[in-house]
Amino acid sequence: MAKRTRIIEGTWNCTSCDTRDIPARHRSCPSCNNPREETGKESEFEFGGVDAASGKSLREGVTDEKALSAAAAGVDWFCDYCGASNRGNAPQCRNCRAQRADTSRTLSEDPEPADAPPPPPPAPKRSRRKWLFVGLGVFSLFATCVIWGSRSHNVTGQVTSTEWTRTVHRETFQRVSKTGWRDELRATPPRMPVNGQGEVAGVENIRNCVTRQRGTRQVADGTEHVCETKSRRVQCGTEEKCTRKKMGNGFMKEECNDVPKYCNESYEDCRDRTRYRTEPVFDLSCTYDTYAWTEVDRRQESGRDSAPRWPQLSTGSLDRLRREEKYVVRIGYTDDGAKEHQLEPKNESEFLSWKMGQSVPLQVSNFGSVTVLAGDVKR
Ligand SMILES: [Zn+2]
Ligand SMILES: [Zn+2]
Repeated sequence: MAKRTRIIEGTWNCTSCDTRDIPARHRSCPSCNNPREETGKESEFEFGGVDAASGKSLREGVTDEKALSAAAAGVDWFCDYCGASNRGNAPQCRNCRAQRADTSRTLSEDPEPADAPPPPPPAPKRSRRKWLFVGLGVFSLFATCVIWGSRSHNVTGQVTSTEWTRTVHRETFQRVSKTGWRDELRATPPRMPVNGQGEVAGVENIRNCVTRQRGTRQVADGTEHVCETKSRRVQCGTEEKCTRKKMGNGFMKEECNDVPKYCNESYEDCRDRTRYRTEPVFDLSCTYDTYAWTEVDRRQESGRDSAPRWPQLSTGSLDRLRREEKYVVRIGYTDDGAKEHQLEPKNESEFLSWKMGQSVPLQVSNFGSVTVLAGDVKR
């Protein structure tokens, strides 16, 4: 890796006659012979543009003997008496012959490049930030909705209807035929219920067994070659990178190196993996006799009064009754128009606590959800 060094010459502007872009090798203005001083930014040199990728100066390097010797002379100092700039290795002022003093000001060396190449544009960061803003926007909109919707106000409703429905199912323990997997069937004698309980369904007369598909299983079936396209960083040649340093006398030292350059390369990542196929699994399926509760009758009654009743059904010795009850209480209220809230009491005593015409305090949210406020009015 070869290191390449160049000396870049800066330029300055004369404040006496306004001549511009005077090469640094001239200590005095070629037009008006005014010596370069520290004042008026005369000794702040311009070094021209820089290649953004490599940091390499766009100016030609200096080859002239005299200029190279000026660059090698060290940091400039300024005369305490006349203000003229002088070579770092000169013991006395070239302009007024005054001796250099310990107090003489010098031009500072700049450890940083004159103009650093601009940082690469942070494109992914910016788009991430954009999405962050979009996300924040959506979230605050959502939060506003939740807050608005959870705000509520109170209204007073009135019970407009109380409804009950009661159903009685009569079921009989009956002999039925079913099918089941042979390995799950064990012959067991049935037992009949007494007062609708204590029964055993039983398994009897296992017969007509046939082979049927019961399920599937995965079976290894050789291997398959699978490939995935992946990406990796690899060195792809070299690129030039340069650093620059001001020498404190209108010249700049540039060092360039060839450094490894990295690129993305795609490659196939392949491996062998076991392949599976789906196979059906067969088993013996049989018919058998058993007993099961079977609905044979049903009665329903309903009303809007406050005296729910069970329908009457007579039962035999192998019967049992199954009861179902359902209650609805409707509460009418006015909130931007006439509305209705419906309650479903779980049992009779809860149902009976609601009376027609009774007033009910309600809390209504902006989304329209209703909560019954258990106040003094109820119960
Ligand atoms: Zn001049
Ligand atoms: Zn002087």
